[in-house]
Amino acid sequence: MRDFEGKTAIVTGAGSGIGAAIAIELAARGAHVVAADIDMVAAETTVTKIASTLGNARACRVDVADPRSVEQMVVFAVEIFGGLQFAVNNAGIGGPSETTANYPLEDWQKIIDVNLNGVFYGLKYEIAAMLKSGGGAIINMSSILGSVGWENACAYVSTKHALIGLTKTAAMEYAGHNIRINAVGPGFIDTPLLTKNLDAETIGQLAALHPVGRLGTPEEVSALTCFLLSTNASFITGSYHLVDGGYTAK
Ligand code: NAP
Repeated sequence: MRDFEGKTAIVTGAGSGIGAAIAIELAARGAHVVAADIDMVAAETTVTKIASTLGNARACRVDVADPRSVEQMVVFAVEIFGGLQFAVNNAGIGGPSETTANYPLEDWQKIIDVNLNGVFYGLKYEIAAMLKSGGGAIINMSSILGSVGWENACAYVSTKHALIGLTKTAAMEYAGHNIRINAVGPGFIDTPLLTKNLDAETIGQLAALHPVGRLGTPEEVSALTCFLLSTNASFITGSYHLVDGGYTAK
């Protein structure tokens, strides 16, 4: 299926995990992909994988916490590929495990800067470029922790909840301009965000929290994300879609 043929897509956090899977799927479906990440080596690795299957992608270094860097990423996409139709604001970080009263101020600020401000900066510049390109679709990567709490992660949970309100508001503003904006809420997914920081026993405990009895895969999140970006989802905007193995059904 080449349903994104010739269209431009930006994916942030495309050097790893969920973002890499989305960049690879969008390219396989015909999109010209800007694989953007703070880690340029990781972004280049994703581009090399895409090139090995004859897809079209370019790497771009971005720090989503820096509005100038995000603006430059969008300029890069438009200059290289001639417009912008799709964006996935996916880059995000975890943070320390600490109760709210003891949560370090600098970690709170950093997580807000990356996970929330970063998505706002993305929307700000992506929407402006999409308006000039005749419209498009955007996904903001939230989490199951956009609808339920998680002890010792006040900053992460706050940002993922906030993204839902940001998504709904921006979607209402631009629905009449042919731009759809949705949020995706994955359960716990088997990516370096988890595996870098947790031991095997803890990962097993997290897997058991999902009624399906396992972690999700990045490709399962990508499948939902690409569906929501595609014209098959033409009547879907301003909503939050879970891909969580039944986690929030409990
Ligand atoms: P990941 O494997 O750690 O990938 C995230 C990528 O984003 C990494 O390459 C990371 O680079 C990059 N990044 C970090 N800070 C950045 C910044 N300021 N600017 C640009 N890029 C930056 O994580 P993932 O699991 O794929 O997560 C992707 C998204 O899904 C995140 O928003 C996360 O909150 C969300 N999510 C994940 C899960 C899960 O269980 N994995 C569940 C729900 C939602 P470095 O590695 O150098 O930091």
